[in-house]
Amino acid sequence: MRSFEEEILEVESSAAQEGDQVTRAPVVTVMGHVDHGKTTLLDAIRHSRVAEREAGGITQHIGAYSVEINNSPGHEAFTLMRARGARVTDIVVLVVAADDGVMPQTREAIDHAKAANVPLIVAINKIDKANANPERVKTELSELGLTPEDWGGHTVTVEVSAKKQTNLELLLEMILLVTELGELKANPKRGAFGSVLEAKIDRGRGPIATILVKDGTLRIGDNFIAGSIVGKVRALIDDRGNKQEEAGPSSPIEVLGLTGLPQPGDTFQVVADASKARQISMLRQNQAKQKSLGEKGGRLTLESLQQQIDEGETKELPIIVKADVQGSAEVLADALGKLGDERVKVRLISSGAGAINEGDIVFAAASNAVIIGFNVRPDRNAAAMAEREEIDIRLHRIIYDVTDEIKKAMAGLLEPTV
Ligand code: GDP
Repeated sequence: MRSFEEEILEVESSAAQEGDQVTRAPVVTVMGHVDHGKTTLLDAIRHSRVAEREAGGITQHIGAYSVEINNSPGHEAFTLMRARGARVTDIVVLVVAADDGVMPQTREAIDHAKAANVPLIVAINKIDKANANPERVKTELSELGLTPEDWGGHTVTVEVSAKKQTNLELLLEMILLVTELGELKANPKRGAFGSVLEAKIDRGRGPIATILVKDGTLRIGDNFIAGSIVGKVRALIDDRGNKQEEAGPSSPIEVLGLTGLPQPGDTFQVVADASKARQISMLRQNQAKQKSLGEKGGRLTLESLQQQIDEGETKELPIIVKADVQGSAEVLADALGKLGDERVKVRLISSGAGAINEGDIVFAAASNAVIIGFNVRPDRNAAAMAEREEIDIRLHRIIYDVTDEIKKAMAGLLEPTV
């Protein structure tokens, strides 16, 4: 039987195939304070964009849908959804009610967009109301460093009324302008990878998850793991309520065929065979169990390594290496493999070239590994995910610094980073 590491490497390499990249639709997330009009805005855009004959699908309320726009360069689309546990988005549309102004969840949304390093545009909503005061909203935004464009700043603001459907076209245009259309890429030929938006038990149909496919193509019959839940795709239902055979990058889709309920925000990943999926599932369930038992068995970090060795919790330091070129990755892997003593040894989970991506985070989480980036950085989604999963990522530019840091960690000499 192949080892877990070998299987991980296999998924890694299949995920890393370049050359089949195509443009994908941007993912747009609506955020904002409660009652400022997120639901109304999502429904209004949906109604204005979905043809009447498809109106039946609207009641299905998947909470995420694809918006199609026919404008001068031709046909364009994006995926619009409400923010949930999953922090997967290319742009945030921040809804601020003009009669209420910036509120705590408005600030939270701004912080999220900043942390995820995604652009934000502001929909100043409810301008139909008599007490609407868009100028006050703009002042408050300016105070938070988001000076509106028409005040000489860089933040795009659009004054809308979701209720009266005012300026929705303008808002859609601005979304298209800001999302760097054509810049976003995905590889529809790889196995699907995504994020769980919501999950529920449906009477008769069993557990159903709505997922956002971030990359790859999901097909009926695919084995997958969602968080620590395994499954095999039995049916796919799109945002119009239609059954589909497959779902490509950026599509929101309902998946039937789960063995349990994953959590919103969980990663969703197609895995070549069912036994591998079950293996990862068991690992994750064990980790979840350990986590809930208290601080013991928490995420392995370089700082906590010594303590974990002392407590007899670990005898090895699992490491994932990503480097700018394959050659450096190999040199590093080789150098790291030589480190260690009778108490602790480096266990190389995988090494490869390219930016640290979400696949790396998934495997770091599944194997409790530390990630070393050599002349590379985590991409945007990976950074957000690493934070959520509490994965220790170390970035270096000099091989000596890497080995020095690992040696110090093994000796318990690492200064805590702030
Ligand atoms: P959410 O909590 O952000 O999803 O807010 P909702 O979409 O549920 O809206 C909260 C309330 O504001 C509802 O009663 C809506 O009808 C109302 N509302 C939303 N947008 C507008 C608008 O543009 N104008 C007016 N007058 N009311 C609105």
